[in-house]
Amino acid sequence: MEKVVLITTIVIIVSAGILALLERIFPYRKGLLFFREGFWVDLIWYTLIQGYFLKILIFDLIIMPLDAKYHLSALHIVTNWPFMAQLLFFLITHDLYIYWFHRWQHSSKILWRTHEAHHSNTAVDWIAGARSHTVEILINQTIEFLPIVLLGANPLIVPIKLCIDAVWGMYIHSNINVKSGKLQYFINGPEMHLWHHADNKVVFFANYGTKFAIWDWMFGTAYHPGIKPTKYGLYYDYPKDYFLQQVNLIYKIDEQKLVLKNKPFRAYYNLRPNTIKFFKRIFAGKTN
Ligand SMILES: [Zn+2]
Ligand SMILES: [Zn+2]
Repeated sequence: MEKVVLITTIVIIVSAGILALLERIFPYRKGLLFFREGFWVDLIWYTLIQGYFLKILIFDLIIMPLDAKYHLSALHIVTNWPFMAQLLFFLITHDLYIYWFHRWQHSSKILWRTHEAHHSNTAVDWIAGARSHTVEILINQTIEFLPIVLLGANPLIVPIKLCIDAVWGMYIHSNINVKSGKLQYFINGPEMHLWHHADNKVVFFANYGTKFAIWDWMFGTAYHPGIKPTKYGLYYDYPKDYFLQQVNLIYKIDEQKLVLKNKPFRAYYNLRPNTIKFFKRIFAGKTN
């Protein structure tokens, strides 16, 4: 198990490097900075910190205690299936679930609050997909991994599926000018998913697919015009700060007003830009 976790972690890091490099060589839209606005929020807060704590919450505090109580994994419902059959079964069923849940998030005002963080990046790239609200990940990953454990799947399915999720998630958001032709009817990629992130009313109810585009074509929500969107993100103001994005689920806060009026928040909010400025000054040799 440790070996597989190590290998899948290396695969994720190497894939991130390759996708980031391909973004430089074959950009979908030119001029997108590597360290674009929100890069550190997506990497440090969403990918590393939130990812770490949610794994503990989902696996150690929800799924494992449930299995310890009901012993469903002891029934070994899928244990004897071939490994690839198990992997494909969970990949396809979860992707179909995600398609419908994602569609519901776009049509329900309440569920939209769990998803708007994911749409808030105005610069969509390989790491932009990591931005998903805690509650959204909690719901989706619990529904994703609970059956894997309770149906008695091979334990290696968990790290391998996490790795496939991460790499595919980075790929569909990457700023790479992919032209997959007929494959885009089956396999989802940036061509359709970048349109899903466009600040454009036409696509607010289109391209919900994550791994497989076939759901969008089957259920009539595919949008693939062959041209590129010009604007990305939300059509209304949304906080840039990680914690305000979390609070926004239940209480909408005007971030700029808060910065202006609340001194402690202003100090916290400006801590990172001021620290960067401070070091830039030191390295530039300025003392005042
Ligand atoms: Zn969406
Ligand atoms: Zn997305």
